[in-house]
Amino acid sequence: MPASASTTMTAFVLHGAEDIRREQVARPEPKPGEVLVAIRAAGICGSDLHYYAHGKCGNFVPTEPFILGHEFAGEVVAHGEGVTGPAIGTRVAVDPSRACGACKLCREGRYNLCPHMVYFGSASVTPPSAGCYAEYATAPARNCWPLPDGFEYAWGALLEPMSVAMHAVMRSGGVGGKSVLITGGGTIGQMILLVAAAFGASKVVVSDVKPFAREFAGKSGATATLDPASDTLAEEAAALSPGGFEVVFEAAGVGAALGQAIRLAAPGATVVQVGTLPDGTAVPVNALLTKELQYVGSWRFANVFGRVIEMVTSGRIDPRPLITRIHDFENLPEAIVEAGSGENILKMQIRRN
Ligand SMILES: [Zn+2]
Ligand SMILES: [Zn+2]
Repeated sequence: MPASASTTMTAFVLHGAEDIRREQVARPEPKPGEVLVAIRAAGICGSDLHYYAHGKCGNFVPTEPFILGHEFAGEVVAHGEGVTGPAIGTRVAVDPSRACGACKLCREGRYNLCPHMVYFGSASVTPPSAGCYAEYATAPARNCWPLPDGFEYAWGALLEPMSVAMHAVMRSGGVGGKSVLITGGGTIGQMILLVAAAFGASKVVVSDVKPFAREFAGKSGATATLDPASDTLAEEAAALSPGGFEVVFEAAGVGAALGQAIRLAAPGATVVQVGTLPDGTAVPVNALLTKELQYVGSWRFANVFGRVIEMVTSGRIDPRPLITRIHDFENLPEAIVEAGSGENILKMQIRRN
């Protein structure tokens, strides 16, 4: 029996759809090159809600119970062999991408596409990898980003989704001086709004069926908002950006939104797919053809985690208002149910002191 089995921790383990259990499990021990992080803040992501609601997420079906969660920050409390930093006691946010570091894609810097990727709290691998809805998690030391003074753990737990948003904006090839449309005003859509505005888009319009999402986008600096269910959507969009939008981000993950994204894109525009769409979603390919659109995917992120810290530290991006609710760690199951309720919540977090 490994020594770690004598030291346990509280964790929330997903056993199936709507079945998450508070359990005492073995506390992980940092392997060579890893650190042990005491978790202080963690976010609940759309993918976590999918796992909770359906027991799986898209094509990722867990083969056994596992600890969910991948957005987190905490304190380094132990070192594995060979680790020289960050020092014990350092406050860090953790980049949850554990890529192999050796394959062609990793060596080219596109580690988000690594075929051997082990993300935290994910059933993309067998057995599923443990996540952060626990008192502790181990992480490679190189994935830990020290938080500047005054940078709260809660903001640290926002860095993963913010990185997804920044990667999407970078995948567009640039938004400076351009008119931007974001379909879907959920957490990632709202974050893309912040990044696109900081990167100098001439206008950023957000479309969402929920009045809450539209109001929130308006307060966060959107030039205007659209209700995709409006009968006069085309006219309203044309009034905002005659000829169409030059960059469109599809962040709703809904087939109808993709159709609108492509219809409202200007000829020659770039459409970035950020939301996960249902399998078999129809793409209006003839509009891609005749408008010479570039339809690009944006998957997780690479090489932007540190940049997001700098953008937040410098005040160019302020994601704090996105944290619409915080629960204590012990209330994680309630927090997940609440986050999935469809109420007016963007980012739900849990905190552990
Ligand atoms: Zn996430
Ligand atoms: Zn790799």
